[in-house]
Amino acid sequence: MVFFDSHCHLDPIRYGADLNPVLERARAVGVTGMAVIGTRAVDSEAAAMLAAREPGLVAAAGIHPNDVAEAEPDEWDRIVALVESGRVAAVGETGLDWYRTTAPPDTQRDYFDRHIRLASRVGLPLVIHTRESTRDCLTMLREAAARGPLAAILHSFTGTADEAAEAVELGCHLGFAGMVTFRSAADLRSVATTVPLDRLLVETDSPFLSPEPLRGKRNEPANVVHTAACLALARGEALPVFAAATTANARRVYRSDR
Ligand SMILES: [Zn+2]
Repeated sequence: MVFFDSHCHLDPIRYGADLNPVLERARAVGVTGMAVIGTRAVDSEAAAMLAAREPGLVAAAGIHPNDVAEAEPDEWDRIVALVESGRVAAVGETGLDWYRTTAPPDTQRDYFDRHIRLASRVGLPLVIHTRESTRDCLTMLREAAARGPLAAILHSFTGTADEAAEAVELGCHLGFAGMVTFRSAADLRSVATTVPLDRLLVETDSPFLSPEPLRGKRNEPANVVHTAACLALARGEALPVFAAATTANARRVYRSDR
């Protein structure tokens, strides 16, 4: 079986000397594909370097909605340059976060809009963070879809079944993270059963939020296997079928053939 961790923050800043063992442990359990997602210019550049060096890895470049208020004056230009260089497979992590109030809503909307327009200009998918903001993100994505073709991943999806259906209708892929394995997350699991298999992705969002049974430890891509097993069970699909489908989806959306 092969798995694709569609969203992790595996940069040398966060993992240091552990990075190689982390990659080895992932590959040992079949996690051969990983999307390394930037949150600032510096880790986006590191993600692109890592993806160039490691087979099966792709990178995304963007400024996280929680960080946009602290962005340096030249930071957006560095993201644009990196995206235009052809070294990344996606634009993000971007989006809106109405739960953490680290950045004013207007600043978040401005940066989300810049990422959306950049992605559509270069023809890359968006990697989108939502927190208590799925409704407003979908509204901005619907406006983008009216202007031209849209490719987007709603990562660590926590919206309702109606919002999931709307995202699917807009052409989005939905990523589910370790949270879906928590005992308290029965509602989220039932939302996940409504998503068509060809739009589903699994992810760890490493180093954050490990799945059961590893809750509380630093997360790493190898753990995506637990999330995949939990979701396959909830959906009544055989794990090899679920693993093959979600891996194919990730490779398609990130255009990763290595
Ligand atoms: Zn993330």
